[in-house]
Amino acid sequence: MSTIPKSSDVVIIGAGLAGLAAARRLAIAGRDVCVIDAGDAAGGRVRTDRVDGLLLDRGFQLYNPSYTEGASVLDLNSLDIKSFSPGVIVSIDGRAYKMADPKREPTWAVDSLLAPVGKISAKLKFARYALGLVLSKTSSNTYDQRTDAFLRAKFGTKLTEQLLRPFLAGVFLEGELATSKRFFDITLKSFVSGTPGVPREGMQAIPTQLAAQLPQGSINFGVTATAVAQTMVRTDQGDIRTRSVVIATNARSAAILIPSLKVPASNSVTTWYHLADCSGSELTDGKSTLVVDGKKFNGTHNDPSRPLVNTVVMSNNAPSYASQKRTLISSSALGVHHSVEAELQVRSHLASLYGVPTGGWAHVATYPIPDALPMMSAPHDIAQDVRLSQGVYICGDYRQVSSIDGALASGRRAAEALMTDDL
Ligand SMILES: Cc1cc2nc3c(=O)[nH]c(=O)nc-3n(C[C@H](O)[C@H](O)[C@H](O)COP(=O)(O)OP(=O)(O)OC[C@H]3O[C@@H](n4cnc5c(N)ncnc54)[C@H](O)[C@@H]3O)c2cc1C
Repeated sequence: MSTIPKSSDVVIIGAGLAGLAAARRLAIAGRDVCVIDAGDAAGGRVRTDRVDGLLLDRGFQLYNPSYTEGASVLDLNSLDIKSFSPGVIVSIDGRAYKMADPKREPTWAVDSLLAPVGKISAKLKFARYALGLVLSKTSSNTYDQRTDAFLRAKFGTKLTEQLLRPFLAGVFLEGELATSKRFFDITLKSFVSGTPGVPREGMQAIPTQLAAQLPQGSINFGVTATAVAQTMVRTDQGDIRTRSVVIATNARSAAILIPSLKVPASNSVTTWYHLADCSGSELTDGKSTLVVDGKKFNGTHNDPSRPLVNTVVMSNNAPSYASQKRTLISSSALGVHHSVEAELQVRSHLASLYGVPTGGWAHVATYPIPDALPMMSAPHDIAQDVRLSQGVYICGDYRQVSSIDGALASGRRAAEALMTDDL
């Protein structure tokens, strides 16, 4: 808990990535900022627990060095991003098919073409589409539609159902692929432009680095905002007088402060961590390659006996995630799951995905995350207004796109609007 100031030029509610990006931009411009957060550290949904020499991110997530907003506010060298493989392994009936951009993983080129997940012509069409996105400079705030409808019409049912749906379900955190095609385009472009990975010290190193760029004492933890007006923020620790307010919470909390706000549905996920009883070199060729189940979805039917949307050996490319050369596996399923039975089902799915017995794997932790990502139903406006009313601004991933870069960009936009209004 902090002793909050009685007044501040700007009060920012939320020290997630959006709030930190807004605070950083305002502080650089010489504004006196007071950030308050209900939690105990910066990061919001990007947090990492250190448990017994392991780094456990609260939900599996990756940073893509191609993120433009991230590149302008983060020192990527000191984050020391450990890139994962620029491809994915699709498991079908016990066989593992390697699929990757042949330019970046040339040894997988033949496998990628021959894998039974759609015609070669569909794969080439997909590769051409992805390349076209990278070459185009325009942002995709044009015609929008559901991603699944677009993919089936453009690339055929087989490629969609056996590769694209299993992969994208783990990115959108929903299996129907009702998510906006605009977000699909942004995501695909970022995957083709950069290889995602994790910072050496865990995902939380990202918000920690941003928070360190603020004047000391700017962030007050353990403080919850309960009401907002143009010149005042009411908190559970007292009132703060201010000239402007930036609401940088998640959508649900923002709607408590601003009841007229529309709250998008949210997608949930559960991540399990296991320590394998074999060396990492015995799994996925000793690399951190995402493994997905090509048979998980049959159309929109999500097979419950195959709970996982993806799994990866974290410690292969990021050995700092598990001391003493242990083999740390991160595996995720859509929805919120707590039960022992769910973990047993995960373990059995892991055995089929990795092709090894998993009975001896140690279960380390389970992270059920109910409000992981705001749903971006089509049509989705990828740059929603950040001005709410005189002196009150709003940001967060749900105002832009549900990603680290989306949250950072929305925070920066809110700060710039505030300064343009010269408040
Ligand atoms: C499991 C998971 C996987 C993901 N995978 C990826 C990925 O691979 N790549 C990617 O780019 N993105 C990914 N994301 C998305 C990305 O993490 C989020 O889009 C981003 O972190 C959202 O940041 P934010 O600042 O908008 O919101 P949040 O992180 O939710 O921050 C909001 C902050 O507001 C605080 N708060 C809320 N209410 C109050 C109140 N009343 N008073 C004071 N403080 C309050 C909260 O404590 C929190 O710190 C993932 C997210 C999750 C959860």
